[in-house]
Amino acid sequence: MTVIRKVRPHPSQNEALLFELSSPGKSGYQLPKLDVPAVDPVEALGSANVRQEIPDFVEVSEVDVIRHFTRLSTWNYAIDLGLYPLGSCTMKYNPRVNEAVARTEGLTWIHPYQPDQSAQGAFAILDALERALAEITGMDAVTLQPAAGAHGELTGILMVRAALEARGNPRKKVLIPDSAHGTNPASVRMAGYEVLNVASNERGMLDVETLARTVDESVAAIMITNPNTLGVFEARIAEVARIMHARGALVYMDGANMNALAGISRPGDYGVDLMHLNLHKTFSTPHGGGGPGSGPVAVKQPLEPFLPLPRIQRTPSGWSWNYDRPQSVGRVRAFYGNFGVLVRALAYIMAHGGDGLKRATLDALLNANYLRKLLEPHYEIAYHAPSMHECVFRHEATGAIAKRLIDYGFHPYTVSFPLIVHGAMMIEPTETESKQELDGFAEALIAIARELKETPELVLTAPHTTRTAKVDEVAAARKPVLKWRRP
Ligand SMILES: *Cc1c(COP(=O)(O)O)cnc(C)c1O
Repeated sequence: MTVIRKVRPHPSQNEALLFELSSPGKSGYQLPKLDVPAVDPVEALGSANVRQEIPDFVEVSEVDVIRHFTRLSTWNYAIDLGLYPLGSCTMKYNPRVNEAVARTEGLTWIHPYQPDQSAQGAFAILDALERALAEITGMDAVTLQPAAGAHGELTGILMVRAALEARGNPRKKVLIPDSAHGTNPASVRMAGYEVLNVASNERGMLDVETLARTVDESVAAIMITNPNTLGVFEARIAEVARIMHARGALVYMDGANMNALAGISRPGDYGVDLMHLNLHKTFSTPHGGGGPGSGPVAVKQPLEPFLPLPRIQRTPSGWSWNYDRPQSVGRVRAFYGNFGVLVRALAYIMAHGGDGLKRATLDALLNANYLRKLLEPHYEIAYHAPSMHECVFRHEATGAIAKRLIDYGFHPYTVSFPLIVHGAMMIEPTETESKQELDGFAEALIAIARELKETPELVLTAPHTTRTAKVDEVAAARKPVLKWRRP
């Protein structure tokens, strides 16, 4: 059965640029008659400050503007339209109620410069979230300052440096498995360390024997993603931690995939010294679109003195900021993180409770493994290890299959990542998808597998139902046209 959901729009429905819609004399506003004497702008401001003409000034009516942007908005794929299986990104549906809580008047009108005494409720929210995240991760203290996952990584590695420096030697290298997210080596370099790659074994896990031979006195830490970007739990992570600690090095965990662990497994229980979370993946803020994010860093007690400034403190007179922390790595962001994101996270955690979070995690794992089973007869799985919240297949034509999925009404999976899998098709359904939605997605991928055998051209030339068929991705990246010119 073919389940193509969209029909190709007529070319006349393509959308012109706003500049091209412009025609002289149109406008989208009406001003009331002046009730004061008119002033000549040149006289009032001086001719140097008054333009005679604004080049390419857009003149359009209200209906032109509304239709232009509304039409464009219908071209976007969104989590509110359907499954968004972009592996590693955790594109899940976020309950609207948390949005409503974050928009509560008292929270949206608060200002970071108002006196501490008048913001006691906000302190209480931040403190409650820090404690909840500490409990979920099994760590002792949390900072909510970093604004993204990569920002949390940098903050964490700066803390590693500060802690080792306090012991006398910051050391030189940080180990990173070859299955790591691309932000890991970038953060490590920014913090002034060298990156040392560690290979994965044929089960898609860190090769612990190689690791044991690699760690020496020059190694400051390992940065390990768990579950890793293959969706595989690093089953020997406790052993990894013992090896690192025995040589005086620290264990940093990239916890962006915490939606595979929350409520089930706590990194603090198996030797992790510090880690970050992506609230804009796991805890109810949409990921992507360049919107505000949050990458809190959770640490064990010995690292607590190095957390960024300021820290929340409770004194007999109430909540306030504590700046008196001589060993801190300093401030990493203005104020104390993206407050709205933090409110949503706390609302989500409190609405779920421990049992609910565990349930969400189990559903994420169930959904990924259900899809894996449906697809395994039709696509080659990259690693024969148990899947957690995502599964990785491989196919020579991964890019074309992804484009063909668009014709079937789905957002593509992650293409060609992780890099250690040639032709990677990385699929993360998340816990919010129903069996019906997953069945429809699997059906589309299975139909495409059949097309690849019977009518490969159809797949290789996809997409066929979009306004623009194939864009030149290299030219778009290398020679972007950012300025409109009158033709
Ligand atoms: C998303 C992600 C990151 C980076 O998070 P940003 O908020 O995009 O900076 C880091 N590691 C992993 C494993 C991720 O999935």
